[in-house]
Amino acid sequence: MASHPPVDFVIPAVQWERLRSHLFRDDGDEHGAVIAAGLVESEGVIRLLAREVHLAVDGVDYVAGDRGYRMLTADFVRDVALHCRDERLCYLAVHNHFGRDSVEFSGTDLRSHERGYPALRDILQGPLVGGLVFAENAVAGDLWFADRRQPLRSAIVLGASTYRMYPRAPGRGSGTDERFDRQARLFGDRGQHVLSELHVGIVGLGGVGSIANELFARLGIGHLTLVDPDDLELSNVPRVVGSTVSDIGTPKVEIARRVALAANPTARLDALAASVADDQVARRLRTCDALVLAADTMQARLVINALAHQFLIPTYQIGSKVQVDRETGAVLDVFSVVRPILPDSSGCLLCNGLISADRLAEEAHSDAERHAQRYVDEQDVVAPSVITLNAVGTAIACNEVMMRAVGLRTEHGGEFIYIDARTGAIRHEVPRRNIGCLECGSMASSRLAHGDTVRLPTRTRRAGS
Ligand SMILES: [Zn+2]
Ligand SMILES: [Zn+2]
Repeated sequence: MASHPPVDFVIPAVQWERLRSHLFRDDGDEHGAVIAAGLVESEGVIRLLAREVHLAVDGVDYVAGDRGYRMLTADFVRDVALHCRDERLCYLAVHNHFGRDSVEFSGTDLRSHERGYPALRDILQGPLVGGLVFAENAVAGDLWFADRRQPLRSAIVLGASTYRMYPRAPGRGSGTDERFDRQARLFGDRGQHVLSELHVGIVGLGGVGSIANELFARLGIGHLTLVDPDDLELSNVPRVVGSTVSDIGTPKVEIARRVALAANPTARLDALAASVADDQVARRLRTCDALVLAADTMQARLVINALAHQFLIPTYQIGSKVQVDRETGAVLDVFSVVRPILPDSSGCLLCNGLISADRLAEEAHSDAERHAQRYVDEQDVVAPSVITLNAVGTAIACNEVMMRAVGLRTEHGGEFIYIDARTGAIRHEVPRRNIGCLECGSMASSRLAHGDTVRLPTRTRRAGS
């Protein structure tokens, strides 16, 4: 029998807190809810993406069961199921059990799934219905696909730190590679193991992305997907980590792959010498654990901003900005910028006016995205770019990815960070969030957590081109 990809459930912290405080209360009783979730399958993984949490009110929607202890009422199930069908989302019934580090469905739970889920799946006509049961630090799932029934592997809570639950809590890990001994002293063998299972996408392997690549590879991140359509040019050499003049004409992603493998020979490296605006390329990033946006085209911003929200991927846009007076040549401003794009908490690049429709149109018109990259601020001026400025922002973003993954981060973050190289000042800016935003907002038919049922804003390659 063919083995199917493992299934993980991903939920942003805001949603998780609502669900957790509903399920685990002082009354020590069982409570119920339904989660409407998007679904994505890519790179040998299936993810269920929590979009909406529908809490079942005790005594109204969640009542004494005919055969089990408690059950959702038929009305509640029907209303949420029809909503899921309209929004093309999966239906996941949720309840809690007691205990801490392990959990499983009861025989009564499983029999009720067998009675109810086939019919529910017919009503939804979607890819999946299922049930999740949570204990305080564990989760189990019984997922009914059209052609099979499959357990859940884990749940991933996207908070200040990423928190992962399994049917039974994993051990502390052991036997870390000796080369990682010094960093494992910070986050433990378990942390090192988590990094080795992380999949990070880097879009743009120039002055910023090449540094991120080096840092992630040396941290021991297990899977990197690298995206950049460009070849190395002479003027890139001062900023592209690991490059030499003999690499001129080589795709930047190939140089990055060489650098990453030298740092960590056991890593998986996918080097894509193509634009992220290409649909087939963008789709390779759908199940990343984190994304770094280090390409400064509007096309790349548009696509990555969509990926971050549609697939619930914590993302960091990194850049440097140098403003020079065009008349006098005087330097006006020098700073490094890090903009986290955290799904379901901080607004997005579109809400914050950081995706210019004019420039997007220009890029599409000229079909010269690779040229547009050079003209960062003004049409006809090659923007200044300096490795030290790039390194400042990149280190902050990569550090956040690492701290979140290994469970050491305590603040959710989400503010844009500006580091002024002339004064040394660090400024935080709370991003705007447009409630009605079709990318990051949560109203009907927004992109958020919709998974594979919504098209990305990409170009589809014509056959034969
Ligand atoms: Zn139960
Ligand atoms: Zn938005």
